Amino acid sequence: MFGNSKDLLGIRDLPVSEIQEILDRTAEMKKIVMSQNRKTTDLAGRTVNILFYENSTRTRLSFEMGAKMMSSVACNISASGSSVTKKENLIDTARTIDVMQTDILIMRHGLSGAPHLVAKNVNAAVINGGDGTHEHPTQALLDAYTIIEKKGDLKGLKVVIVGDIAHSRVARSNIWLLTKMGAKVSICAPKTLIPSGIEQMGVTVYNDVEVALKDADVVMGLRIQLERQKGGYFPDLVEYAKEFGINEKRLKLAKSDAIVLHPGPVNREVEITSFVYDCDQSVIDEQVTNGVAIRMAIMKKAIER
Ligand code: ASP
Repeated sequence: MFGNSKDLLGIRDLPVSEIQEILDRTAEMKKIVMSQNRKTTDLAGRTVNILFYENSTRTRLSFEMGAKMMSSVACNISASGSSVTKKENLIDTARTIDVMQTDILIMRHGLSGAPHLVAKNVNAAVINGGDGTHEHPTQALLDAYTIIEKKGDLKGLKVVIVGDIAHSRVARSNIWLLTKMGAKVSICAPKTLIPSGIEQMGVTVYNDVEVALKDADVVMGLRIQLERQKGGYFPDLVEYAKEFGINEKRLKLAKSDAIVLHPGPVNREVEITSFVYDCDQSVIDEQVTNGVAIRMAIMKKAIER
């Protein structure tokens, strides 16, 4: 259970105590991921089905690997290879998977709110693996875990998120989570990629990356979500990189021990340079490893009801 819900659909409604519990449990799961004996019986006899309507490398594989390490029967179905292409509707597809006695349904969909609709119509615990521009809760949780691993605590940290805030579910989930946990969150993007009223989420807004990055403890780059943009929000990617890309010189404006995060996939030389991706301050690979552990902790919690 997540609060009083069977589902994990977003960070917005997740109490701080639940966030903390997931982060604490992840430390135990990480030990398993890093061991030579990656096997538990936490999900023995349970079924995990992964239904993705959008492409994914990290999220999908980490759920599947985690589910298998915990001894579940884990299956993966892509909408493009399913009866969705025969015009079956979302609820019917989800019901079909549910009545196969699915315990946990992991879902990604291009439409904001799709997992919420499914959750109301199935018995399985639904975990949101990203819905449109809305939320990506497991990404925010793994980001928080990675920051805490390096910095000890989120409280008081200056976190600067640079990129396509308007179309990013990662930005939204991170803003909810980081502000709840006491971090000071700034966002930076061209004016056209800043949603109006975002200040109400408790963030400081910048349009100049060199001002935004000053004294940051944590720098998070986000991909330009071209697949979700329905118009020209800036001249082109080269221009974006020139104005907003995080490079070696700009990273020096942050604290000397600042860490760099990116949810992936990274477009090198656009939102961050190769130098920044590969430098010692980058924790992008650790984020990916932690993604397996956080999703294991979440699936274990999902069957506790
Ligand atoms: N992988 C993340 C997501 O699915 C970030 C991205 O695609 O840019 O939202």
